Amino acid sequence: MIGNKGFYKTIIVIICIGMLAGCKKQEPADLILINGEVYTMDSGHPWAATVVIKGNTITAVLDGDEKFEHFQGPDTRVIDLEGKFVVPGFIDAHVHFNRAGALINDANLMAVSDDHSLRKEMERVVDILDDGEWITGGLWGAYEQWELGAAESGLAKKARWEPTRWTIDDITNNNPCLLYNYDYTLFLANTAALKLIGLEKGKYQGMKLDNQGRPTGLIYRESPALIMLQKAVKEKSNDRLLNENRAALRSLAESGIVEIHDIAVPDQTARFVELRENLELTCRIWLRPDLSRGDELKEEGLTMGLHPKTKQPDNWLRYGALKGYIDGIMGTHSALFFEPYNDQPDNYGHYRRHTSDDPEFKEGNMDKMYNLIKIGYDAGFVSNVHAIGTKGVALMLDIYERLMDDLDKDLSGFRVIHAQVIRPEDFSRFKKLNVIAEVNPYHISDDMRWMEERIGYERCKGAYAFKSLLDNGAILSFGSDWPGTSAAEYHMHPKYLIHAAVNRTTLKGTPEGGWFPEQKISVHEALKAYTINNAYAAFENDIRGSIKAGKLADITVCDRNLMKIDPSEILEMNVDMTIVDGKIVFERTD
Ligand SMILES: [Zn+2]
Repeated sequence: MIGNKGFYKTIIVIICIGMLAGCKKQEPADLILINGEVYTMDSGHPWAATVVIKGNTITAVLDGDEKFEHFQGPDTRVIDLEGKFVVPGFIDAHVHFNRAGALINDANLMAVSDDHSLRKEMERVVDILDDGEWITGGLWGAYEQWELGAAESGLAKKARWEPTRWTIDDITNNNPCLLYNYDYTLFLANTAALKLIGLEKGKYQGMKLDNQGRPTGLIYRESPALIMLQKAVKEKSNDRLLNENRAALRSLAESGIVEIHDIAVPDQTARFVELRENLELTCRIWLRPDLSRGDELKEEGLTMGLHPKTKQPDNWLRYGALKGYIDGIMGTHSALFFEPYNDQPDNYGHYRRHTSDDPEFKEGNMDKMYNLIKIGYDAGFVSNVHAIGTKGVALMLDIYERLMDDLDKDLSGFRVIHAQVIRPEDFSRFKKLNVIAEVNPYHISDDMRWMEERIGYERCKGAYAFKSLLDNGAILSFGSDWPGTSAAEYHMHPKYLIHAAVNRTTLKGTPEGGWFPEQKISVHEALKAYTINNAYAAFENDIRGSIKAGKLADITVCDRNLMKIDPSEILEMNVDMTIVDGKIVFERTD
């Protein structure tokens, strides 16, 4: 016999148990991927077959013999992957997003070296743009120059192809054009552009004329005619820039990329905010402001992990590390070395503005960078610093050593960006300091055409030396450096980076056996550097980076199992589906 009070208590207990049981039966999933070859990057459960997603979260990861039906409700979408390869979504640790969309929605002439290919590119761009909008892309002839390779570069250039305005006028009637060649010495204006400055018939200093004295549209660098034209070019509207952003986001989604670590350029940051507010982001953004901005951001109430406008934590758009620069780059002989370049015996490379007070960057000032890193650290930011030559990397590691001693703290999350050429004695220092080596594997496929000529065989042994880094316990992080510079185009699709790290050949498979093949790494290590390690590098490996119950559902589906195929087949890999935050942002249909 129980009293009234006891009776109600019993009822309440029964109701609670009922509710709990209800919860246990689970709410149905939104999405279930079945029959996949799921490579989870979760060392406790490396392979699985089924991934269950509810909202933005992975709620279960099952083996092939485990039933998934009890997760299924009337509205659950079940996708049979028919054995496709599933990995945690690729995270690209190094992108220049701001420049990428212009190469898609504006003219990209790098591969153009004859009339036909220029006309084709103009047709493509005119289709994208509204009437009246300027076409302003460039670098025609770049691939042709790069193809010449180390032996010929710098020597007599072969007679170069030159377009005229008449090559493109019939296509670009409604869009003024100002295009430029691979080394910015020659520009091309179409008739629509010349009309705007009143020079379609006239002559002006810097204009190349044909044998009848008519302007061909070709304009020489730094000439009065070019200056006039450049003044006439209409700045891109915010709408056009947003469209370029959308095109770049689409490319990333099609490539299976779920997050980028980008450089924070203020006007681009504002566009990211706009896209985030419109729910148009299909890829998470981790922004790296310039190393000199630590104080300023702190004053604004901003720090690592916070959305630039709401100043709240936001795992779609937030500030990440501060980005610094020690030295130049290999492509222009400006990376800093202890010994001079083999092909430029007086040149050791140079410093950058974070490491020098000298306008020519010849004299280094490491205290300058050290102080910037300290100020940034006090504002809550770690630093990610660009260091490429042997001396650049060594000086960077020296600074980190000093920082670790001063702070008496582990430097996890700090990075050496590129870490391109390393002395034998410096490999072990990464682990000692616990700093990340953020590397760009695709640079191997591209740079090898001139690396040995520039720094010689011995130094090349430490170039893109991912295996040595791994053997010495360093944490590798992969980034593409997309879309590249005027000296090279860097691909962003993961197949290129994985191919380069695993095979160490060009896209044509040369040299046979790979360039310094002892530095090849496994597909597993490449995938790790592209997923869980990059989540760790953004301090979010607890919530992302592997396929595990409880983590955010960022997942990429590939058409072939990279762990099983012959490495020579990696470049044939396609991305079939990209899932970010539980939503399918790309599904291949062809
Ligand atoms: Zn870069």
